[in-house]
Amino acid sequence: MKDTEVLIIGQGPAGLSAAIYTSRAGLDTMILGCDPKVAGDYDIDNYFGFDETISGRDLIEKGVRQAMRFGAHTECDRVLSIHFEDDGRYLVKTESKEIRACSIILATGVSRRKPNIPGMDMYEGRGISYCVSCDGFFFKNKQVMVLGEGNYAANQAIELHEYTPNVAVCTLGKNISMAAEYTEKLRELDIPVITKNITALKGDPALSRVVFNDGEERETHGLFIALGDASSLDFAMSLGVFTEGNFIVVDRNMKTNAPGIYAAGDCTGGFLQISKAVGEGAIAARSAIEYVRNTCRSSSS
Ligand code: FAD
Repeated sequence: MKDTEVLIIGQGPAGLSAAIYTSRAGLDTMILGCDPKVAGDYDIDNYFGFDETISGRDLIEKGVRQAMRFGAHTECDRVLSIHFEDDGRYLVKTESKEIRACSIILATGVSRRKPNIPGMDMYEGRGISYCVSCDGFFFKNKQVMVLGEGNYAANQAIELHEYTPNVAVCTLGKNISMAAEYTEKLRELDIPVITKNITALKGDPALSRVVFNDGEERETHGLFIALGDASSLDFAMSLGVFTEGNFIVVDRNMKTNAPGIYAAGDCTGGFLQISKAVGEGAIAARSAIEYVRNTCRSSSS
């Protein structure tokens, strides 16, 4: 069994930022997590400090190297469970080992569910997007559609309407489960909610049309996936950490209600962007550093 002072779950911007702070402060730091979704050939244009576009892959690789430079240990491993032990430490079970940690920073992002439409992968980055505030700008005055049945989808559609008036929501055959205030707002903005399923995507090289299950087609250049944030909250729930909707509740120091457990990045909700994740990672690290010094280090000396 391995021991660490700080275990960071998630190797995205939040987890890496936290690791830079905890390892620089001299804490034994382990990061578990594999490449985050953004670590691909995606152009990151809105993160501070890069006068030219940087790819998500390069940004994450730089972050990993920076954290390792200060002594953080990173592994692509998946956490399965976390339990609180009698001695005040946490026992973490992964796919390959068990680890005892004094403090944990949850930085698991949100797992977005993918619809099962043939050709989805082919159009990623060519019309399909998971992020209105990242990509809405590229669809100014174009025909766009948000996939989803809940408040998240409605909210994405309302945000998209700032870029183009030609927005529709499609529930992929599911019942609408939006709060009345959202359906009202969609009506006000003249955003139709289509309850049919989508069976095919068309366009070459980029998306230009979707085909519904009744054979009807609709011009669509941007398809924004908002099927609800699949929960990565199992750890939080099993530890009795408070959650709200799909997100972990934290205070301004990124503390949860459980001792030594902090959360940062997309898993705390709000603005799902790199800059916010990086800032929260730094704050969570500061809290974890204080906790380890005052709790585990003092009890073991
Ligand atoms: P993530 O980056 O999602 O990282 C989560 C980490 O947790 C991953 O390492 C994952 O492997 C790990 N993890 C999850 N579950 C487990 C588990 N059980 N055990 C171990 N590890 C686990 N934002 C911008 O600011 N600008 C952009 O241009 C931009 N473009 C984007 C493009 C795409 C395609 C995507 C998907 C997102 C984009 N975003 C952009 C959003 C941005 O990527 C996120 O806001 C940011 O990555 C959130 O960081 P995070 O560290 O909270 O989580």
